[in-house]
Order: sequence, then C-alpha cells, then structure tokens
Amino acid sequence: MTSSGEVYPPELDKLFKNVPRLTAVDRQFVLKAYERAAEAHKGGVRASGEPYITHPVAVAFILSELKLDAPTLAAALLHDVVEDCDIPIEVIENEFGLEVSRLVDGVTKLEKLPTNTENMKGGKAGDREAETLRKIFLAMGNDIRVVLIKLADRLHNMRTLGFLSLERQRRMAKETMDIFAPLANRLGMWQMKWELEDLSFRYLEPESYKEIATYLNERRTDRERSMEQVKARLQHALAENSIQATISARPKHIYSIFRKMERKKVRFSEVYDVRAVRVIVNDKNTCYQVLGIVHNLWRPIPAEFDDYIASPKDNFYQSLHTAVIDETGKNLEIQIRTWEMHEHAEYGVAAHWRYKEGTARDEEFEKRLRHLRKLMDFSDDHEAQEDPVAYLDAMKSDVFQNRVYVFSPKGDIFDLPAGSTPIDFAYHIHTEIGNRCRGARVNGAQVGLDYQLKSGDRVEIINTKRGGPSLDWLNPNLGYVHTSRARGKIKTYFKKQDYDKNVVMGREVVDRELKRLGVASMPRETVAEMFNFTKVDDFLSAVGSGDITGAQIATKILDAERKASLENPPDMLLPTAEPLRHPVQDSEGIDVMGNSGMLINLARCCNPVRGDEIVGYVTRGRGVTVHRTDCSSLRSGMEPERMVPVNWGKANGRTYPVPVIILAYDREGLMRDVGAVIADENINMNNVSITTRNSVATFLLTMEMQDVSHISRVLARIEQLPNVIEARRRT
Ligand code: MN
Repeated sequence: MTSSGEVYPPELDKLFKNVPRLTAVDRQFVLKAYERAAEAHKGGVRASGEPYITHPVAVAFILSELKLDAPTLAAALLHDVVEDCDIPIEVIENEFGLEVSRLVDGVTKLEKLPTNTENMKGGKAGDREAETLRKIFLAMGNDIRVVLIKLADRLHNMRTLGFLSLERQRRMAKETMDIFAPLANRLGMWQMKWELEDLSFRYLEPESYKEIATYLNERRTDRERSMEQVKARLQHALAENSIQATISARPKHIYSIFRKMERKKVRFSEVYDVRAVRVIVNDKNTCYQVLGIVHNLWRPIPAEFDDYIASPKDNFYQSLHTAVIDETGKNLEIQIRTWEMHEHAEYGVAAHWRYKEGTARDEEFEKRLRHLRKLMDFSDDHEAQEDPVAYLDAMKSDVFQNRVYVFSPKGDIFDLPAGSTPIDFAYHIHTEIGNRCRGARVNGAQVGLDYQLKSGDRVEIINTKRGGPSLDWLNPNLGYVHTSRARGKIKTYFKKQDYDKNVVMGREVVDRELKRLGVASMPRETVAEMFNFTKVDDFLSAVGSGDITGAQIATKILDAERKASLENPPDMLLPTAEPLRHPVQDSEGIDVMGNSGMLINLARCCNPVRGDEIVGYVTRGRGVTVHRTDCSSLRSGMEPERMVPVNWGKANGRTYPVPVIILAYDREGLMRDVGAVIADENINMNNVSITTRNSVATFLLTMEMQDVSHISRVLARIEQLPNVIEARRRT
C-alpha cells in the first residue's frame, strides 16, 4: 500500500520506498514500464533459473538506491526489451515517450557490442574494449543516465555471475575491472566502484580473494573490538570540544587490500590490520577542527596526510585523509568530511538525483558533466575514431589514469599518471623540490629530466639550493612535464616571479629611498646585505614584488646609522646630530639592573629596537650586549649565568635633528601645507628658510624627530603635495 492507496507488486513497493519523492503519477508510469517488461520477458529465464524479469527489476532497484528519477527507473525496467525481445524502439517511444525511449536506445546500443574477441577476426586485442569505451563516452555525451543504467546493469550481472561458464565469468570480470570499475571511479561513484572491483577480483583471482576474505573473517571480532575502543576515544574527545560527528568504521574492500599489498610489497598481515574510521561532520571548518583533535590524540604519520578539501581529486572527491599511530602502536586511517562531501564521495555524479531539482546543485552537476565530457571528448580526433586501439590507449592514459608506481630513495611509494617525468615526481613531492630540481637519478643512474618513469623505478631528485624552474619545462615539445599539476606549479612560479621586471621596479624604489634619506651614494649592495641578500638582484626583485617595502628599507638604513653613531661618535651619517656625551645609555635609555654608565652594545644578530623584549649578556671586556629575548644566538653556546636583566628605561625625550630640503614650484599656501604634514606627524621644525629662484622655491628646514624611522614616510607625504618636486634629507 502507498499513501495514495494504490497497490503495487511487492518488488516495486520496495523500490518506491527508496525514492519517496516519486509522485503517484511517477509510480503509475514506473508500474506501466514494469508490466510492459514483464509481458515482453514472459517465459524468459536467466542462467540462475529465475524469471528474466528479476534482472531488470534488480537493475531498477540499484538505481532507486541512487535516487534516480522515474524515467530512468522506467528505462531500467525496459532496458533489455529492445535487444532481447525484438520490440522496436518506436514502440517504446509511442508507449513511454521520447525521454524513456532515448534512454533505452542508448543502453541498447551499448549492449550491441561484439560479445567476444574471436568474432573480430583480424582485430587487435583491445579492439572490443576500445569500442565499448567509445560507445560509453558517446552515450555519456547525450545523457549521463544511460551510463548509470549500464553501470547498474553490469553490477547486477556481476552479482549473479556465478551461474555462467568459467570462461564467460573471467571475460566479464576482466571487462568490468578494465572498463566499468574505472568508469564508476571517474564518475566519483565510490560504492559502485568498490563493489564492481571486489566482484571482478573474486573471479579473476579466486585464490587471493579467498585468502583475504578468510583472513578478514577470522580477525573480525578482534578488529571490531579495537574499532569500538577507537571510536569511543574519538567520540569522547570530540564531545569535549562540543563537536557533533558521526564516526563509523570504514569497511575495508578486499580488492583495495590486495592492491595495497601488491603496491607496498608487503604481506596480508601488514595490511589487513590497518583499521579505518570515517568522521562525518556538518561543515568544512569542523573538518579541520577534527583533524587537529585527531592529531592531538594520536601521533600523526606526516606522509599520510592529504587535504582533498583544499585540492579535490580529478573526480571532485573531497575529504581530509590522515593516518595516525594509536596507543597500541597500530596504524589507524582517518577520513574526515562533511555530509555533503560524503554524499558526493559515495554517489558521485548520481548524488545529483539525491536532491530536489532546481537547486544550486544543478549548476555544480553541470560543471561536473562538462568537465567529464571535456576529458572524454575525442570526437574531433579522426585518428582516434578510425583506430580504436589508439583511442583506447588515449582513453586509458587520460581518463582511466593509467598510473605508474615509483619509489622515493626512502622507499615511500608514489602513484603518478603514466608518462610522468622526474620533474612531475619532484613537484608531486613538494613545490620547492620541483622548483629546485636540476637532475635526477633513476635506480642509481643519472637520467634526463624528460625520462618517462616506469613502475618500480626508484627516483632521486637532484636539487640546487636556490633558483627556480626553467621556462623550457613548459614547452610541450620538449616533454619535460606531463602532469597538469606540475605545469600549473611552474606557471605559478613564473607569474609570481616575473623576476626581471621586479628587479627594475625594485631598483627605482631603492634609489628613490636612498635619495630621500640623503644617502644616495650608499651602494645598493650595502642595503641588500642589511636584508641578508647576497645577490643584489634578488634583493631588488624582492623589493619590486613588494615583499620588501620602502618603509622597511628606510628603517633598516636608519637603524644602521644609529648603530654606527653609537659605536662611532661623532656620527658620520647624521652630521648635524648633537655630540653624544654619554653615548650609549643616553641614546637608548637602556637600564642594566639600575646601573647606568656601563658600556652597552646592541647585538647585531637580532637588532633589538625599543619596545622589544630584551636581555643583557655580559661580554669579556666589551660591556653588556643587549639581545632580543627570542634571539637564536642566546640559545646556542652562551652561558646562562652571564645573562643580566635589562630594560629600555624611560624614553629620554631626546630628538634627532634631521635637516631637510624641499624643492617646489612656488605657490600660495605651500609652506602652510608642508607645516601641516609635519605637525600631523608630531614633528617639530625649526631653522626654516625659503629662497625662490626662477619660480622654484627651495625650503631648508630641520625636523626634530624622536623616532627617525618614519622619516621616509614624512618625506613621501610632503612629495605628494601639489607642486612639490622633491623632498629629501639634506647632507
Ligand atoms: Mn541487462
């Protein structure tokens, strides 16, 4: 019974329970398809001996679990009637409309494939697979639902494969493993993918399958007990942080265990004990919060962390993956995701039908489909159409991501798209390793950077200390880079860099700053050294890209001047500064345990500035050196008993007189405007004189500054006043 009071056959009732949003009209429509299919398949039996109609019903049921719509369910029920019962497609169109008939036609065309390679005499191995693929992708271009029906059809056939001959079992299993499981993966349909893989594996490698299945079964009780403990511990920690989460043990798939075992060349015992949990939360931020809690609770294994939320996989999969070592010393894999990510991870493109139509998700879905079609669109490629094997190869590498598995020198395994080079590998490990990659050794022998990695290769990257990628790497003809990921990173590097341009701009900034500060004769090298650059151009480029600002340059130069003035009175760089009577204590006001009159130096390693937390260090014969408390040289090799507390004391109100020259085309109120800027910066001025010649006014004045570090800003502000030509320090 349904809400509308109609009575349906029990198998349809079961199906409708999965898709509550179907209307009474929808249900009637599906019922009609069911009755038509039952009539058409009447008397037909499957290899299992069951009535044939059980198959289309099962296929429709799988699709109802994916929440697909009424036309898809109807088409699923009718998917074999054209092929097997000789009912013309026009009849379906008349009875069920164009939408359903197109779906049925699409599935039928997929089924009209040569059933075995022997029938393709003269054809190369792979022709049939290639043809299947080609048809699937054409179908996908028309309506993705055709492919979903085909996948459900294949899944049910695989579930009931046991009744076929051994030879047909193997052939079906191989085709499923080669084509349909990767297809489900590409569509992001995780559940479908794993079930197809496990079922295929069972027929392709019955002994390995049985071995793993038996192991898993024997250890189940142990595993479940330990999982309960892990879950309880985690649930408790999350509750303490008021996080609502659903924690579940993640089922291990037999084929995934087998693959892991093969890849890592380890025995079952090292793989099957790995436990895995999944944490599902309500929003993205909470995912990262949970990650932090997990990493606090157990020791993370750094190489095992992947952030697929920030950078989703090609099939749009999103999750945080991490692995930790729990209190018993065993590995524990943890996936963290939101409910939305979870739906997409489990159902992929089919997640679209889980939501009501007409929502924002439609746009996301369309985006996904466009992406898929783009990946699979070989329709313009005549060569590919005429040569199915070449087409298959192209598909396999582009769409099915034929992978190579390579090792780092430490023995870590990395999985890369086939065709990857050492540069791809380097960027895969870390952007910096990619940027600084200069050469590579594979299995101990030097190779070119365009070498194509093979599975099992042990790859060692040779890096330089500095520098970046070569522009040649972006030249596709040279074959240095295969993955779009590496290509993207190289492009980003150059964009960010734009080195030469930045050097030119940086030079302008530095020269202007030096001139403003009245030290135009100071070599750029000297300034670069103040910022710990060995190459001037590197420094200039950092300035040009905005990493180092004019204000920072001014501060550094003035700091250096001040230091020079402390060590070397009278001040060479501040020629008009008053002679310093008690040079050190007075100028910095530093107070050593209430003692004045001690010789004080500011440490060059950390350059303390008024306001920093500081500590004194009693040197042999050179008084007290003042360091910042966070200075690293304090920690290395200094004797703690020689440290003395110091403080900045009171600011002593001492000012620095800075003579300034301003050139401007004379105008009314100019002096008033200059005065306003200076007053606004809390600076006193005196010794003002103005001379005008050929309508250019020259202002000479002295600014009395307590803190000279913002002199550059003041002069820049004055320069921005109308008519001002320049404002700089007078030397
Ligand atoms: Mn079928």
